[in-house]
Amino acid sequence: MKNSKAKAATGTVAESPLLASDATVAQALPLARFPIGKVDKVDVSLPEGYHEPSLKYVERDARHGSLETAMTYTTVPNPFNCANFSSEPVSECFFFPGSKEVLMNLPNYPQPLVRPKTTSFHMIDVPGKGKGLFSTRALKVGDLILTERPLLVCARGVVVLRPPNFSDAQYSQYSLDHLERVTEIAVSRMRPEAKAAFMALANCHMEDGSGPLFGVVRTNGLSLGGLRPGVRGEMGTYNATCKDISRLNHSCSPNTASRFDMASFSYSLYAVRDIADGEELTYQYTAVGVPAAERKKELAPYGFVCTCTACTDVATSDARRSNIAAFNANLIEARASDKFLGKFLVKCRAQLELVEQEGLESLRIYWVLLRALMDVYIWRGQAKDASAYAAKLDKILWDADLPQDYKQFIDPKSPAYEKHEMWRKVYRG
Ligand SMILES: [Zn+2]
Repeated sequence: MKNSKAKAATGTVAESPLLASDATVAQALPLARFPIGKVDKVDVSLPEGYHEPSLKYVERDARHGSLETAMTYTTVPNPFNCANFSSEPVSECFFFPGSKEVLMNLPNYPQPLVRPKTTSFHMIDVPGKGKGLFSTRALKVGDLILTERPLLVCARGVVVLRPPNFSDAQYSQYSLDHLERVTEIAVSRMRPEAKAAFMALANCHMEDGSGPLFGVVRTNGLSLGGLRPGVRGEMGTYNATCKDISRLNHSCSPNTASRFDMASFSYSLYAVRDIADGEELTYQYTAVGVPAAERKKELAPYGFVCTCTACTDVATSDARRSNIAAFNANLIEARASDKFLGKFLVKCRAQLELVEQEGLESLRIYWVLLRALMDVYIWRGQAKDASAYAAKLDKILWDADLPQDYKQFIDPKSPAYEKHEMWRKVYRG
């Protein structure tokens, strides 16, 4: 059997839940990477003497930044600089060099965790799906459902020197063993309630060489970017494992989406459309704008077959989704000529209807269409029509990269309309 069983942590890192010091792991050369998702069953034996990863741990003052040549364990926010909200949940992090500095250099870091005023969800068992989150009240689009700091933010791979004569499979297993070991140390630094929440999460990586802790990370991790400036692709992101958001089940028409705020180091989960009292809250695990067959492939590693409406009535849904994707791809071109503004407007309205029928409000195209419609009505000088779209745009809080200055356009009589540079610039169409 494989060698991925968790071993008890050595005394190199203190196990205090309020650990104030950081630890670093000296690193060597090439990087092994493991995507989220289950792979085929593997059973790789490593030669004797290679089972115990040889990592060197050094304890450091948490007020220091990263060492250039080492991975860093750190607690976020750091107990040293959040004395006034030190009782809040914290995230244990396993960072590449430089990520800690990203936080330390934020002018407004750290900020307290702001929780919504009302509890809007609870966790219950779902037949065939394990556990899931359900609403406990009717929610409106844009409502904040929950905020949380991740339990663990973990590098997607570690630097592991390839031992001589190891096959690819052995090297892969060896790297997975390292990942289990480094995850084990991060978990040992958690406060007891955080550790219990982490250990209670699902693990669909029981047979692929992942250890029991890294298996939980692979099953539940959300992709978290922004902490490795200049590093592109998958290795530019971390896996963030959450107590609540990681419990959301997948849907190809998700009714929630999350946004990460670096200064408070927390996720906010929003309703992307109105949600009924008692309805299951859902989240997208993979890209959902693509055809059903592609989604099925992407979801296979999670060990379930999606039975959402889009995956049940595949012909209808695929036709609509490919229509949306094609329109999105040609949007800039379509919008370039004001001669066709009238046609463009009709097309955008039809597309918006398709997006709503498919339940794809979480995607960027939803914003693009609302914004295009608002703009067209501003160009035509139709403030009342524009304001209806401004009100919808104002509710899109789940995408941190989008502008949020629509409040001034919600009142059709607002002076912001006449001040707008495109106001009544186009009458044709
Ligand atoms: Zn589906």
